[in-house]
Amino acid sequence: MSISIEENLIHYIASSLPLFSKQSNSYRFQCPYCQFSGKDSKGKSLVPSTAKGYFYSIYNAWNYKCHKCGISQSFEKFIAAQYPLLHFEYVKMRDQLGIAGYQTNCPSLEKLLSKYGITNSNPPVFLISNNAKPTNDPKVTKLPSMRSPQQQAGHQSQINHLLKIKAQQKRDREQWW
Ligand SMILES: [Zn+2]
Repeated sequence: MSISIEENLIHYIASSLPLFSKQSNSYRFQCPYCQFSGKDSKGKSLVPSTAKGYFYSIYNAWNYKCHKCGISQSFEKFIAAQYPLLHFEYVKMRDQLGIAGYQTNCPSLEKLLSKYGITNSNPPVFLISNNAKPTNDPKVTKLPSMRSPQQQAGHQSQINHLLKIKAQQKRDREQWW
């Protein structure tokens, strides 16, 4: 039996989950919602046996539950709330394997992107663009309210590219003079 995407991701984030331990059919750690202080109500430091957060799977669907504050959510919702940058990668992996969208416990990549204002009719808008073309579309007047990690990376690479060109131009000028 191969290891699931979720378990791979759990291993990846384990070092950032205090008091993490593997149980027989679950993973246990300090609840990031109600135990983030690392202390109990009397100010005593928590130990592995007082950590109340769990990842567990039912019929291959991974979930999170805390036996202290009672929060119960799908693995996808937990990652979205606690690891927003990883969440995008997680949904992308699920989508690529065809286990996202309708009748799954994970949104499709398209749905997630549209949440950030990215759709086929509304492609990412970059502040700096080498090939900016005038548009006749009066609807495109504002940036999406939130920028995805990919947009941010794209934006940064555009800036890097411009800086590189600037540096090259400076060098060229210096050689001429
Ligand atoms: Zn909790």
